[in-house]
Amino acid sequence: MSVPLKVLIVEDSEDDAALLLRQLKRGGYEPAWERVDTAEAMRSALQEGTWDVVIADYSMPRFSAPAALKLLKEFGLDIPLIVVSGTVGEDVAVATMRAGAHDYLLKDSLTRLAPAVERELREVEVRKARKQAEEDLVLRVEELARSNAELEQFAYVASHDLQEPLRIITTHCDLLRIRCEGRLDAEADDYINFVVHAATRMRALVKDLLTYSRVAVSENGTRLERIDCERVLNDALANLSASISEKAAIVTHDPLPTVTADPVQMEQLFQNLIGNAIKFHGDVPPEVHVGARKKRSDWLFSVADNGIGIDRQYEDKIFAVFQRLHKQGRYPGTGVGLAICKKIVERHGGRIWFESEPGNGSTFYFSLPAERRQSL
Ligand code: ADP
Repeated sequence: MSVPLKVLIVEDSEDDAALLLRQLKRGGYEPAWERVDTAEAMRSALQEGTWDVVIADYSMPRFSAPAALKLLKEFGLDIPLIVVSGTVGEDVAVATMRAGAHDYLLKDSLTRLAPAVERELREVEVRKARKQAEEDLVLRVEELARSNAELEQFAYVASHDLQEPLRIITTHCDLLRIRCEGRLDAEADDYINFVVHAATRMRALVKDLLTYSRVAVSENGTRLERIDCERVLNDALANLSASISEKAAIVTHDPLPTVTADPVQMEQLFQNLIGNAIKFHGDVPPEVHVGARKKRSDWLFSVADNGIGIDRQYEDKIFAVFQRLHKQGRYPGTGVGLAICKKIVERHGGRIWFESEPGNGSTFYFSLPAERRQSL
């Protein structure tokens, strides 16, 4: 059975066109065709019809295959164009292929025409499928980004609105404990203590979730300015001074650069990473080093510690909200700190990761573009 084929023949000779059609029929096609030999005629053929393939003579008195290719491009059409020619040098053939022709045949080897058409039509299908897949992917990514943004917005509103009732619960539980301690039996005292602890922990979780979602939905926008990282680091260390002296931690640093970033978020980033480096220490006092070096177009920062280390298998887990590797007790926390770090770094166009060996300390790295535009 013949395969229908809509073919636009760009050819000034009726006889040559007939030859082409005969070859196509022999190859199993049933061509519906039109012959044009000027740009105007091809333009109106493209406007009026849909075509599976264009077969073009290389040069005609009033038109040419390269001009036909240009026209296809101008129309934004992905229709294979096969050049057929009497005698043309190899260099012209190469130039025509480079300009976008899909195949090049000599008139004396027209038996190759039908297989060439078949191959080009298959490739059009592949290109179409790939384009469709790419468009689907873009749509899915956009959808994901939208639903992520909605979730972050939801987390923001929820954590924000939960704060007040939680504050009332913790305050009144505390009052209840003060008022009732020793007046009821020991079991009742335990119950009250459980409630106080749970409510206090919930408040900490909600507070950190709110901090995270503030960065995620960027409540106040991310404020970019030139900041001296040494100054930001010193502010972060001042906030950590209680745990630094409690743990007898030593924090050293390289000379740090000036970068374009949000000062509040950068302080939070240093504070979270150094806070963790101090918190997750082993038997010896924490030693932390903050490094920075230029690597191509980025600044690469590092926060290295001599602490308990992290197993590589938790690589993805620790950067997610509420994910911790330890129970409360020895290492208190909510599991939000690194998620905040990741959000901050990503908002600044960088990447965050760690290298570590359990028992042998960890180094957290993050990159920031050295040169950047002024908005995020
Ligand atoms: P939190 O510190 O509140 O537990 P984070 O999100 O900051 O939450 O960290 C997630 C988990 O990653 C921690 O519970 C800990 O198990 C691990 N972690 C983070 N930083 C370090 C570090 N410097 N050394 C060892 N473990 C770490």
